[in-house]
This record gives sequence, structure tokens and C-alpha cells, in this order.
Amino acid sequence: MNIILIGPPGCGKGTQADEICRRYKLKYHSTGNLIREEIAKKSTLGTYAKSVIERGELLDDETILRFVKKDLDGISKKKVRGILFDGFPRKISQAVALEQFSPADIVLDIQVSDTEVIRRISHRWMVEKEHSQFTFVSKHDAEEFVKIHGGHMFHRKDDTPAVIKNRLQVYHTQTQPIIDFYGKKHKLFIINGEKSISQVTTDIFKILDARIKN
Ligand code: AMP
Repeated sequence: MNIILIGPPGCGKGTQADEICRRYKLKYHSTGNLIREEIAKKSTLGTYAKSVIERGELLDDETILRFVKKDLDGISKKKVRGILFDGFPRKISQAVALEQFSPADIVLDIQVSDTEVIRRISHRWMVEKEHSQFTFVSKHDAEEFVKIHGGHMFHRKDDTPAVIKNRLQVYHTQTQPIIDFYGKKHKLFIINGEKSISQVTTDIFKILDARIKN
């Protein structure tokens, strides 16, 4: 069972992914996280990836597919019921490639307007603790987490207004066409991502409960 989450930056993919993976026992796969791990290693590839991410652009397909396949190869198919893809595919060419080696069963398109994306991202804070990164919808929530668990607060470098604008443009021109691609394959489900976090989770569970045996 492979599920793909599509949506603009700040639509809540990461938060919803946690809930989905827990409920349906799926392996979480985030290309953004794989890239950030590579950047942290300060490798040549990481240095190249950092400059691309910080401009809000997409990495080339060859590099992304190498990341994806390496990560999938490390997953024992016997131990997981399926994979939840967050941030991949982001282009038609990637969707076509994925169909060859790990086809999607269900695609969830979390829709949020540009105005709401900009509002959310300008309030978003991250906390890094022991090499893990956590996302918070407000400074207050991040501060409360740090008080209890420790860690340090920061903004993602690609969460600045100029970069967000670019990421939204990239999303509309390059990622949105894959919504049609999966719609034609009858794998697509549209979610209103502007509801509360818990309501979005409920809407997603309704769709998945009807299609995945628990
Ligand atoms: P994310 O954490 O999913 O928002 O990803 C952060 C950044 O990593 C994106 O803005 C892109 O620069 C890069 N990235 C992540 N996934 C992909 C992908 N599938 N194709 C190309 N670039 C990607």
C-alpha cells in the first residue's frame, strides 16, 4: 500500500503524515528530510542541495531518484505494510518514474490557498533536538516544547517570504500537474486543508479507513 501526500508548502503534510503512519503502520518517506540529512553531512551533494533548497527550487530528478531508491532499498518490504510519500513525486517525470518501481495506490491532495500558506509559514517555527526536527504552527507552541524537552528553535532558511513565493510558483507550475495525472488514474482524493488539524485528520481517516484494512 503506497500513499502519496501532495500539497503546497505549509499545508500540514508532515503533521498529517505522522497521524497516518501511526494509524495504518506505514513507513514515512520524506525527500525533504533525506535532503536535509545530506546537507547536515556537509557533503558535496549536500552543499549543492542546500543552494537549491534555499532558492526554493527543485533538485534534479536524477539526484532525487537516487535518494528515493536508496531509502526504499533500505526498507524491508516484509516489515512494513506500505509507504507514505511526503514531498515525492513533485513533478510529472517523478510520478511517471515512481509508477515503474513503487506505484501509488492512493493520492491525497491537501488543498490550501496561497494566502493561507503565506500566513502559516510566516508563523512557523522549527525545533531541532538530537538530530530530529519538529515543526510548530506558532512560536508559543515551539517555546512550550523546548521548555519540556529541550532543543533549539529556528526558522527554516526556505521559509522566508521571497523563497515561499518561489516555492508556491514552483508548486503551481511543476507539482500541480501531477494532480491531474493521478486523477486520470482514479487514485486521487481531495482534502480541504484549511480546516483545523484534527478535522483534516478525520477527513483523511474517513477516506483511508474505507480503503485500508486495519
Ligand atoms: P520539503 O521539506 O518537502 O518542503 O522539501 C524541501 C525542499 O527539498 C524543496 O523545496 C526542494 O528544494 C527539495 N525537494 C524535496 N523533495 C523534492 C523532490 N521530490 N524533487 C525535487 N526537489 C525536492
